Amino acid sequence: MKHIAIVGAGQAGLQLGFELLAKGYEVTMYTEKTAQEMLNATSMPAPIQFYPSLALEEKHLLNFWGNERDSQVDASSFCSCSPDGRKQLEIKASLHVKAKSIDLRLKYAIWLEEFERRNGNLIIEGGSIDLLEDCTLKYDAVFVATGKNRLSTVFERDEERSSFNAPQRHVAHFYLADCQFTYPHHPDWNTAYFIQIPGVGELILFNSLHKSGKKAFSLAVEAIPNGALDLFNNRGDGTSQLEILKGYAKKNQPGFYQIIKDSSLVNNDWLYGAITPEVKKPAGILPSGRVVMAIGDALTTYDPIAAQGLNAASKSAHHVAKWIYTNEPARFNEKWINEVFGDYWNKARYNVLYERSFLNLRQRHQKLIFIAASHIPAIASEFINGMGDPSALAPFYFDADATASYLKEHGFSLKAVE
Ligand SMILES: Cc1cc2nc3c(=O)[nH]c(=O)nc-3n(C[C@H](O)[C@H](O)[C@H](O)COP(=O)(O)OP(=O)(O)OC[C@H]3O[C@@H](n4cnc5c(N)ncnc54)[C@H](O)[C@@H]3O)c2cc1C
Repeated sequence: MKHIAIVGAGQAGLQLGFELLAKGYEVTMYTEKTAQEMLNATSMPAPIQFYPSLALEEKHLLNFWGNERDSQVDASSFCSCSPDGRKQLEIKASLHVKAKSIDLRLKYAIWLEEFERRNGNLIIEGGSIDLLEDCTLKYDAVFVATGKNRLSTVFERDEERSSFNAPQRHVAHFYLADCQFTYPHHPDWNTAYFIQIPGVGELILFNSLHKSGKKAFSLAVEAIPNGALDLFNNRGDGTSQLEILKGYAKKNQPGFYQIIKDSSLVNNDWLYGAITPEVKKPAGILPSGRVVMAIGDALTTYDPIAAQGLNAASKSAHHVAKWIYTNEPARFNEKWINEVFGDYWNKARYNVLYERSFLNLRQRHQKLIFIAASHIPAIASEFINGMGDPSALAPFYFDADATASYLKEHGFSLKAVE
């Protein structure tokens, strides 16, 4: 059986490692932080993760938070509000399978220990091009899972598949205590709130399990550059940045202000940055001419807005693992990598198209789906439950003719609601 190397122990790298270990492969993982260093790391997000990616973790007994109520999200609510806070549209539905949100520091630290427990070979070493060269000599295949920026020069940008050349949002992420909100008529439900303010940005809030083991609220502020919400920077401390957000909300978004007015920052945990969503070519050609394959964010980088990154990292790792163990090639060469990616892309392209529709490229027929979902609960439910796998929303969300037929089938007419 082949010996596989993985560089980068995050969602993509560790999940690929676990799936290959389960099939009897020898796996060596290189990563830059020990479990304890990961736990002590500066702030990392608590991404919301949906079915079907969660099902992969359950299957491989990696869901150490199965009954942890604070990590579970039961329902989702999407609101569009005018820049002065008037609600224009609301979509809400419960999730058929509860979503989960766990501080990545906690998740990765526990998974790192588990990887060794399952006889994975863990080496604490920061990956470099030299290390990749070395690995291609020592192992049968090398996968790069170092996330969005690291070792990114190894993989060429795929111009045809990438829609953006620059970040579409400036993102601030806060861990908060004491937010006040409940789903209507279900005060016991944990709910993800998404507030879109056209021309300004988005506010995305849900409960999550903080690395301390306590419940916190994960708040991502997605500010359109130079817009009214583009108020943050990485010079200030988190508490002062939170006060700036409260000031903005009090004046412009009173509904949201009620939710966060008594909140405080947990553990001074916050982060600020910007991401250019892009797709890379999956095969990285090293200076020697030997090849390595990208998975997770190293392959496709998403803005957090549509909650696709972690979910896609999980799916890409699973896809690659399945190709390896069901159809192991004699040689892991560029041809094999492109074939695996081509098959992955058939579905993954919908993640990217879905994300685009949340950034600045929502098409008219997609706006109609939002309006219809705000009137017809069955459409709201289908749309919200499709977040974990946007290919399930094809073709009706991605093709104007299919949208028209879908809306007709559901008896929705725009004229009737105008
Ligand atoms: C604010 C914010 C909110 C988000 N919210 C969501 C959400 O709600 N839902 C969602 O699906 N996604 C979300 N994401 C995206 C999600 O976090 C990423 O897509 C996901 O973490 C990618 O997983 P990965 O394994 O590819 O990379 P990472 O999680 O970045 O893991 C990479 C690993 O590689 C290690 N590493 C890095 N460089 C090296 C090196 N040179 N050598 C060795 N090891 C290295 C790192 O220490 C880390 O362990 C969010 C992102 C942000 C920033």
